[in-house]
Amino acid sequence: MELWYTENHTKDVRFSMKIDRQLVSKKSRYQRIDVLESKEFGRILTLDGYLMVTQKDEFIYHEMITHVPMAVHPQVRKVLVIGAGDGGTIRELTRYDSIEHIDMVEIDKEVVEVCREYLPQTACCLDDARLDMYFEDGLKFVRTQQDAYDLIIVDSTDPFGPGEGLFTKEFYGNCYKALKEDGILINQHESPYYTEDAKAMRHAHQRIRAAFPISMVYQLHIPTYPSGHWLFGFASKKYHPVEDLRAAEWNALGLQTKYYNTELHKGSFAIPNYVKELLDD
Ligand code: SAM
Repeated sequence: MELWYTENHTKDVRFSMKIDRQLVSKKSRYQRIDVLESKEFGRILTLDGYLMVTQKDEFIYHEMITHVPMAVHPQVRKVLVIGAGDGGTIRELTRYDSIEHIDMVEIDKEVVEVCREYLPQTACCLDDARLDMYFEDGLKFVRTQQDAYDLIIVDSTDPFGPGEGLFTKEFYGNCYKALKEDGILINQHESPYYTEDAKAMRHAHQRIRAAFPISMVYQLHIPTYPSGHWLFGFASKKYHPVEDLRAAEWNALGLQTKYYNTELHKGSFAIPNYVKELLDD
């Protein structure tokens, strides 16, 4: 017997992986949580059937969501991370001694519990002494914050289900207020390729652009995400992601990375024409 995990990337396109076994399947208050063991990608986490993280390609997502802003902002001391229950973003942030405090706001405690047990590769640093975890809605949490963070990273699910509020005008406006005067917001910005994903990407971009003076996107290649072509948003009150890149300083830290480097950093902001048109429209 063969077991396969299949995700619909559009109503007419599917992506499948051969599975050895299912390790967890449970329903939390917010979503269905599954961990599967796959042949090619190792363990994978899905929420409501949508693929979140695989052991084989998670480094691409987590390095790019973290090191890009860290190589631009000269003094990140306090960070807010929203979502990120698998822990991969926290793992990358805790590599910086200069970070003094991280608040992580994840709506679903059970995702964190499952990842601690079954995905130690990403959840390995969730006991870092600098980390405070809050199990609540990120949308509500940011409403109460002002002038508090150097960096906010929105490592969320897609714009439906519990993640929907994290793609709204209200949320981005509150992130602006929660950031210090030279703060940076990074968000999971969906894919430009398939029509439905591209719509979500454009909506997110229009809303962020209305709130921040600098609002750009950068791209990365994630083999297991729809179309493989993914975007993150870089919104900032002061720093330009390429002109203010501190390449020599970042390289002097000596951090070993598998995907990110400062040359790729610059190139990731060079966007294909069809994506520029979608964003400018
Ligand atoms: N890398 C993943 C992706 O883009 O597919 C996302 C990783 S992480 C598992 C996403 C997390 O966001 C989930 O654990 C989910 O519970 C959390 N989340 C969704 N909506 C949220 C909200 N409104 N506030 C806080 N966390 C939220």
